[in-house]
Amino acid sequence: MKEVILSIASGKGGTGKTTIAASLASIIPNSAYIDCDVEEPNGHLLLKPKINTEEFVSKLLPKIDPYKCTVCGKCVEVCEFNALINLKFEITLIDEMCHGCGACTYFCPGKAITEIEKPIGVIRKGLTEHGILFIDGLLNIGEVAAAPLIKAVKRKIAGSKNGQAGYFSKGEISNRDKTSKQNEISISSIKSTDDISQQYLFEKTYVIDSPPGTSCSMVEAVSDSDYCILVTESTPFGLNDLKLAMEVLKTIDIPFGVVINKYDASYIEMEKYLEETKTDLLMKIPFDRKYAVAYSKGILPIVLYPELKNEFLGLFDTIKEKLMMVENV
Ligand code: SF4
Ligand code: SF4
Repeated sequence: MKEVILSIASGKGGTGKTTIAASLASIIPNSAYIDCDVEEPNGHLLLKPKINTEEFVSKLLPKIDPYKCTVCGKCVEVCEFNALINLKFEITLIDEMCHGCGACTYFCPGKAITEIEKPIGVIRKGLTEHGILFIDGLLNIGEVAAAPLIKAVKRKIAGSKNGQAGYFSKGEISNRDKTSKQNEISISSIKSTDDISQQYLFEKTYVIDSPPGTSCSMVEAVSDSDYCILVTESTPFGLNDLKLAMEVLKTIDIPFGVVINKYDASYIEMEKYLEETKTDLLMKIPFDRKYAVAYSKGILPIVLYPELKNEFLGLFDTIKEKLMMVENV
């Protein structure tokens, strides 16, 4: 029994990543859905949580005292995000580029920098009607650095994992526990029970909906995951972006497998590539108009189509097997 972080990512947008993340959160007992796609969070449209807490998040911006600054340029040199510009007679900050890392303040030899707070977004928390814990981050319009907000969203998981009061009150967790037991009963009635799900139920599974692409936002969202599902589609663009996302996950050493959404059997290059690279193909979801119609109405397709729900239960069992293999290495 352990807590697991399962991230859902995709090299490109529009692959159905959120539908897959929300579906998994819905069928996994004792899960929490964490929407880290903070520039455009839309998991709430499918899971329809009742939001009961909003927390505003700020980042620390450097403020340079012109009377103390000698324009030595050290802060510009240490800023990895090119947020500071040396104009020779003064240093200027591009707010939007600043990640609030504090390096410039730390290294300023003249102690000319103090830090001020700038609001960057909000973290919303709630519960769905089925008791799934829901958290998302919503970045302020015009704010370009998503990583600090994603970091703040993920700190809520850490708070909860450490057993601190953190973001979830005890009452909410025990409510969720009751619901998850009910979920287990309904799941086992759908699926045969002679599989590993009975031997290896996770205490809690955090399903992270990552931003699309392979930028630092995606890296921030998937880092620390126990496993990542990469969602792609049967197109040359899908394959190209999948390759990039796979490279990122290999670099940061996170085990992963692939789900092909809107599967088209005539596009053989995708499966050929997965075979060549010995990459796990976890599930294929055929393109079906009825799934798209459900999604357009804000309904999770697994709610309407039991055969698809069974596919997702099978996917979760496969992931559990993968996680056990990783744990036993
Ligand atoms: S490091 Fe400090 S003193 Fe040097 S340019 Fe930057 S703010 Fe000014
Ligand atoms: S806080 Fe970090 S990112 Fe922002 S200006 Fe300073 S060094 Fe650059």
